[in-house]
Amino acid sequence: MRLQNKVLIVTGAGSGIGRATSLKLASEGATIVSSDYNEATAMETADLIQKAGGQASYCKADVSKPEDIRNLIDQTVAKHGTLDGIFNNAGVGDVRSFEEHTPDYYNHVISVDQFGVYLGIYYASKKMKELGVQGTIVNTASIFGYTAAKGSFAYQAAKAAVVMMTKSAALELADDGIRVVAVAPGFIDTPIIKDGDDFKDFLADQHLSKKLIQPEQIADVVTFLFSSEASAINGQTVPVDDGFLIFKRA
Ligand code: ADP
Repeated sequence: MRLQNKVLIVTGAGSGIGRATSLKLASEGATIVSSDYNEATAMETADLIQKAGGQASYCKADVSKPEDIRNLIDQTVAKHGTLDGIFNNAGVGDVRSFEEHTPDYYNHVISVDQFGVYLGIYYASKKMKELGVQGTIVNTASIFGYTAAKGSFAYQAAKAAVVMMTKSAALELADDGIRVVAVAPGFIDTPIIKDGDDFKDFLADQHLSKKLIQPEQIADVVTFLFSSEASAINGQTVPVDDGFLIFKRA
């Protein structure tokens, strides 16, 4: 049990990486506040944790709204007595042409994927400083914070910002004993991508193993990053990309 007595918030906890990570963190002894703007899925994640014998509550929050994040953090401390960290994981972003990157769409992606991560870092660190807690912040970046592909203009801008915010925040918060790190996932297996689909094979081929990455494989690394085993990792984004970033495609 590497995270006994830790109280951790997970945003975007209703599906994919957020759900798998919530379950894994809870299995290591952490109390999880499962948060998502989809209240039903946030509640389901908390239920799954409780059914597995773990501790969890849920709280609806839209990560792009300062008042929601302030409330999420206040509710967490009111309910569980402290705050030891946050996984800033909620995200949006579909593949669309540059012409379809209207100002409204661009602003939406930035408000969730970039501003939302800033809000999580800002309010969680403020609260941990008030409480005198030397906590950990983990952010979800992406391989597309490092390299570009057509169709993800806004997402890539936001994720590159997450990589840099992780460095900047680590520097700003080091004197308070707060560590800030990130993961950069490759292509994740989600129910939207069906077996036998050509697109699934194409994405899988981008990895050295020729397989998509399971959310649980990201969860394992995030759990390690929250643990004291990772105490010497700070400001870095850890690629969990099955080799995606290391080689040039033909
Ligand atoms: P991944 O495969 O990377 O985990 P998903 O799309 O499955 O991606 O998960 C992203 C999660 O983030 C979803 O549960 C979604 O409801 C949540 N989410 C999206 N936008 C927001 C937002 N503005 N505030 C909070 N949660 C959000």
